[in-house]
Amino acid sequence: MTLVAGGSAGAGATPAGAEGSLQRQRAPVGRLVERFERGLEAPICLTWELTYACNLACVHCLSSSGRRDPRELSTDECRALIDEFERMQIFYVNIGGGEPTVRSDFWELVEYATEHHVGVKFSTNGSRITTAVAERLASSEYVDVQISLDGATPAINDAVRGEGTFDTAVTAMGRLADAGFAGFKVSVVVTRHNVGQLDGLKELADRHGAQLRLTRLRPAGRGAEVWDELHPTAEQQRELYDWLVVHGEQVLTGDSFFHLAGYGASLPGLNLCGAGRVVCLVDPVGDVYACPFAIHDEFLAGNVRGAGGFTDVWRRSDLFAELRRPQSAGACGSCGRYDACRGGCMAAKFFTGLPLDGPDPECVLGHGEEALARRGTSEVPRPSLDHSLRPRRRSGAAGRDDPVDPVDLGDSRPDVAGHLGPVAVALLPRRPDRACDESPVAGCGPGPGPGPRPVGRSAGTAGRGPH
Ligand code: SF4
Ligand code: SF4
Repeated sequence: MTLVAGGSAGAGATPAGAEGSLQRQRAPVGRLVERFERGLEAPICLTWELTYACNLACVHCLSSSGRRDPRELSTDECRALIDEFERMQIFYVNIGGGEPTVRSDFWELVEYATEHHVGVKFSTNGSRITTAVAERLASSEYVDVQISLDGATPAINDAVRGEGTFDTAVTAMGRLADAGFAGFKVSVVVTRHNVGQLDGLKELADRHGAQLRLTRLRPAGRGAEVWDELHPTAEQQRELYDWLVVHGEQVLTGDSFFHLAGYGASLPGLNLCGAGRVVCLVDPVGDVYACPFAIHDEFLAGNVRGAGGFTDVWRRSDLFAELRRPQSAGACGSCGRYDACRGGCMAAKFFTGLPLDGPDPECVLGHGEEALARRGTSEVPRPSLDHSLRPRRRSGAAGRDDPVDPVDLGDSRPDVAGHLGPVAVALLPRRPDRACDESPVAGCGPGPGPGPRPVGRSAGTAGRGPH
């Protein structure tokens, strides 16, 4: 994707091949960030959740997935949306769910996307990464894979993701590694229980030729129910920051931890909230939200089934126009750390019931904790949607949910071959541009040429995915 200067709100970035001067493409990072804050012609980080169906029931699932929504976009609607992405020159999408591979047309859609120059990075719990699938994926430069894993040991991982899920994920990692897929991602949500395992998680990823991606636990979806129990303590936040200062260039983090930049040195990744400016979510029924962690009517910008499609929502929705206007620093305005941490994450504030123009709940100065104490037990916003299967919880402890029988997924449609499971796809031999995994400003400063540098599987720099 090539970055070009835009003259007004809503303009600013068009993909490679569009007009734009090299001089502008090499604009200082600060100016590019300002442009991102005013919004772009097309999102850089587009997350597309294909389904709410999932064969697991992770306690912190940001989209409260479980059951398939009967209003899910049809295969034809998904194809039309991919056509639109191609017209907008969105070069890749982060596909998630739910577990996207349970959609019977998943592989068909991946193939359609890659044929139409839309690269795919998909997140999976690994349960459907067979040896054959791993080999197929390894042969493609246009599809990237992200395996979810929330602990370096079964005890820590399975407490959050369900019994047996550590083995499932590591088996999938082994299959990808054996197939020669270098540089796939291992995605970890950092919690109170795994923050002490960061070295072990990195070692596990390294051993499989993968790259570790760390994500912040946001109080979104079912994550809202366990955030108090699972989010890292203040001491652990500092521990995490110190670890990232040392290892940040070798792991992907996206915009997860810019609230920690208030400690001092800035961290690799995107140091601003890109909601509605460079980031958005398309959910399984076509609703477009400002960010994958903000599935709530307050952040609903429109639906791709509307007359103007996704393009109209992205470029003309009132909500996104509002988010692209200069935002008030509010109570953070007098803080000397504001330029570094920018008040933190909008979604984290919203779902903990804190004002959007106040400190992040995990503010490094402790102001978030003070605000939460002042908030007390008053009502906090609940996610607008919940597709949870609500499996029985054992002993009331977080992370003890039983995995859910896949027959409950509610998706009985046959796949293109008339049977369940993946079908062979003809994947194109080019990697997606994973600007989201980097910072959108990566490669755009003074450098050898226009646009972000190509990101290969072996790229060693930082990044993020569908949050
Ligand atoms: S609301 Fe939070 S998660 Fe969403 S884009 Fe902003 S900083 Fe990222
Ligand atoms: S008070 Fe606001 S700006 Fe200052 S460190 Fe906390 S969240 Fe960041």
